[in-house]
Amino acid sequence: MTRVLVVGAGIAGTAAALAASAAGASVTLLDGGPGASVLAGGALDLLPWEDATGSQDDAALADPAVAGVLRELAELVHVTPTPAVLVTQAGILRPARAAAVGLLDLAPLSAGLVLVPRAEHPGWDAAACARAWNDTALARARGLEFAAIDATLTRLTDERFLAHADLAARYDEPAQFSWLADRIKQAVARYAGSRVVAVVAPPWLGVEHARARATELSHAVGVPCGEPLLGPGGPAGLRFERARDRALGRREVVVVAARAKEVARDGDAWAVTLEGGDALQADRVVLSTGGLVGGGLTYAPSASVLAGELPPRARPSFASTVEAPVAIGTGRRPIGIPGSLFGESPESLAWPFAPFAPLLERAGVLASSSGHVDAGLYAAGDVVADRPRTWLDALAQGARAGATAARAT
Ligand SMILES: Cc1cc2nc3c(=O)[nH]c(=O)nc-3n(C[C@H](O)[C@H](O)[C@H](O)COP(=O)(O)OP(=O)(O)OC[C@H]3O[C@@H](n4cnc5c(N)ncnc54)[C@H](O)[C@@H]3O)c2cc1C
Repeated sequence: MTRVLVVGAGIAGTAAALAASAAGASVTLLDGGPGASVLAGGALDLLPWEDATGSQDDAALADPAVAGVLRELAELVHVTPTPAVLVTQAGILRPARAAAVGLLDLAPLSAGLVLVPRAEHPGWDAAACARAWNDTALARARGLEFAAIDATLTRLTDERFLAHADLAARYDEPAQFSWLADRIKQAVARYAGSRVVAVVAPPWLGVEHARARATELSHAVGVPCGEPLLGPGGPAGLRFERARDRALGRREVVVVAARAKEVARDGDAWAVTLEGGDALQADRVVLSTGGLVGGGLTYAPSASVLAGELPPRARPSFASTVEAPVAIGTGRRPIGIPGSLFGESPESLAWPFAPFAPLLERAGVLASSSGHVDAGLYAAGDVVADRPRTWLDALAQGARAGATAARAT
């Protein structure tokens, strides 16, 4: 049986592990701690949503390995035929290819009133959100009107000081959740004569079984209920971790909580040395260590070295944090040593100086479309060069790389 070792347990690594296991490999996954997948709020894009004009290219999702991973993560992700429309706590409505469990999808709604219950929590301003959402072109185009309504949704003083993710976890307890559902139902009942089409609930719809909670609340209230999209700190990351761990457990993937230091060829196989010094052997390795946020890439121009007046020498500005036989580049070419001791020119690096495809968003491991880097070595997700750096694209890359790694001879 082919031994596949996946480095990094974000969505790319999770998809790689599930797909490799489904293709018959014996799989070990190195979990080095949280990364971008845990910070993302649950809007699941294939392309960055600002670039995704109308229909997105769904071909990547039709790949059998990708479709298989989506089925295994069905408790977390449900990709509907048409894109979702989400309300965000930043005050806008925005499209997404799919919504993670718990979020309210406005796409299927007909025109009408969307109620937003008030809650005594500093992270929940129903009135401000409703006002901002009403002021969007998308709300007007869809005939949706948002209205904040009175409700009492906290009962213990400490609930007002808990982060949304912790409060959501508290509502995993069925009796607690019934209390919340009753309160929302009573608040909405006062609008019985109005054309209520949905409810935006505070982001507390549980962590373990958010799909069941959202369904239960929607049934109790009689219209679709769900949460808005939040920034980091919401329950989406915990939901991802729970769904990931259950899916990996069902596949009997061996999960090792450790970080890789080096990936090196070892005869026909590969040796992965861990930060503690131990080494693991595998026939194939999938590097899915994430980008600058996940910790798989580092931006370390020569000027970042402590020096006197001048950096001692020029060096490439980007590197893989795991020592491995990979080239870091963009546009199929490695990024060389910059002409300046101070690295790449700032104007080429990041928005707003480089508004189109800045280097920070493109640099990564050079790999083929199936993730192939070297014989038996693959890469997937945000660590890869020139990919859109979105959640669903990372999943699709991981699934393809995992399936290919398991089958390659
Ligand atoms: C705040 C935020 C908001 C976002 N919002 C959206 C959005 O709205 N829509 C969207 O589609 N995408 C969004 N994204 C992007 C999306 O989350 C990422 O593209 C995707 O999660 C990348 O997955 P990944 O598995 O490649 O990387 P990661 O999730 O970063 O996983 C890489 C993992 O590798 C681990 N690792 C690193 N080095 C090692 C090592 N040496 N050994 C072992 N493990 C290691 C890390 O700890 C990490 O867990 C957002 C990202 C962030 C940060």
